[in-house]
Amino acid sequence: MPKADIAAAALRTVLPADCLLWREEDRRPYECDALTAFRRLPALVALPRTEEQVRQVLRTCSRLGIPVVARGAGTGLSGGSTPHEEGVLLSCARLNRILTIDPLERIARVEPGVPNLKVSEAAAAHGLYYAPDPSSQVACSIGGNVAENSGGVHCLKYGLTVHNVLGVRGYTIDGELLELGGRALDGPGLDLLALAIGSEGLLMVTTEVTVKLLPRPPCAQLVMASFADVHSAGNAVAAVIAAGIIPAALEMMDRKATAAVEPFAHAGYDLDAAAILLVEADGTSEEVGDQIAEIETVLRRAGASTLKVSGSEAERLRWWSGRKNAFPAAGRLSPDYYCMDGTIPRKHVGEVLDAISRMESRYGLRCMNVFHAGDGNLHPLILFDANDQDSWERAERFGTEILELCVELGGTITGEHGVGLEKLNPMCVQFSPAERAAFAAVKEAFDPKGLLNPGKLIPTLARCAEYGRMRVHRGALPHAELPRF
Ligand SMILES: Cc1cc2nc3c(=O)[nH]c(=O)nc-3n(C[C@H](O)[C@H](O)[C@H](O)COP(=O)(O)OP(=O)(O)OC[C@H]3O[C@@H](n4cnc5c(N)ncnc54)[C@H](O)[C@@H]3O)c2cc1C
Repeated sequence: MPKADIAAAALRTVLPADCLLWREEDRRPYECDALTAFRRLPALVALPRTEEQVRQVLRTCSRLGIPVVARGAGTGLSGGSTPHEEGVLLSCARLNRILTIDPLERIARVEPGVPNLKVSEAAAAHGLYYAPDPSSQVACSIGGNVAENSGGVHCLKYGLTVHNVLGVRGYTIDGELLELGGRALDGPGLDLLALAIGSEGLLMVTTEVTVKLLPRPPCAQLVMASFADVHSAGNAVAAVIAAGIIPAALEMMDRKATAAVEPFAHAGYDLDAAAILLVEADGTSEEVGDQIAEIETVLRRAGASTLKVSGSEAERLRWWSGRKNAFPAAGRLSPDYYCMDGTIPRKHVGEVLDAISRMESRYGLRCMNVFHAGDGNLHPLILFDANDQDSWERAERFGTEILELCVELGGTITGEHGVGLEKLNPMCVQFSPAERAAFAAVKEAFDPKGLLNPGKLIPTLARCAEYGRMRVHRGALPHAELPRF
């Protein structure tokens, strides 16, 4: 009997009939995440409703040696929840209950399938909210956020997911319960909670998350500053932080990004500027007033040609709406876009944007930049056509060259979107063989059979050796005279 049929028969004994999909047309919607260039049809899709059903699915698959890939909302941008063709895609979408909101302890316990924004909506009655705010927050799940250690525009001041989660509960592939962290700020022993956050579904399947809730700031104001060149805008970002100011958000958009967004968001952006910065202050009205004045002084000194301060909440939200819709706006310019995610030390922002513009000519593809400048977290959006294989291959090489430049300048190959399938090759550049072996040893300690989300995040030695031989550095292929097979 084929392995998928054996798995289906075994899973039918632990799941209700409506929790298992096996027909091709039912499995098709799960073939990719938001990085749609990578597609694989899973052998089966499990849609458990309870934690006990998750445990049973994992135990069953472990016993039969069947790979399992956990999935939240499928908004990931690195192929983290791309299925395994011979495996079970374990959707956590139905585990979507908010279990408790405790306004006294300022925490919420939620199931992993709860969309990020729902936590803040549920906490709003108590004047509280959950700070990490990915632009995908209306859809992406807390389980996915934990697995990717997701960020957002306000993470400069309030931290990433890892700084806002107190505990996770979940199961290993063998169905063993893991409870990491708790309700307190720190716990005894090794910090396995921090290890689990950002582990991209390779170590455990999360079934419950305890998050911190913060009091909603009473007041917020946004400064919009225009710059005549991207260098001055990049230097202004570094100057704000160097002045000891930690804004609630510090975002940058280049002219291509503002031009793409403005026609449908009508945000009011300066389309003549080479780049704009959006800098937010929040707190009491006195704190906001003081910080806005400081931000204006620093930005003016750094060469801002125009400065505007939001005069009302409606105006502040309108200016944000353009930034929040920048990714979809790329879809107006091109059939497809490839969103990169690397970090660099802030002082290199201008230099990297110049390098990206040279790469645009070399690869014959356009690229718009809209990113978390305060964190030095770049999001170049490379515009390409997925129906044209050559265009996709150029986009991939373009993206890899950007990430390798980030590493060269002391940055990283991912700021918040994770490695998944997409960044396996750049992992070979970022980490030494000894470091990659340490990652593999950690994976083996949790999952000795390598069944949980296999083939993601940690490249094999053989892959890195092959990539080293094939690596195109600054457009030059090593030993270009040799034939490639
Ligand atoms: C338009 C757009 C804007 C975005 N903006 C941002 C942004 O501002 N900041 C940011 O950080 N990201 C952003 N993202 C990326 C994405 O939304 C995040 O990575 C998000 O955390 C993914 O959540 P998800 O529920 O969709 O997870 P999925 O894509 O379903 O899965 C992501 C990873 O999590 C694992 N996983 C999911 N659930 C579980 C679980 N219960 N247990 C164990 N592992 C699990 C999967 O195996 C996979 O490895 C954006 C994406 C889009 C499409």
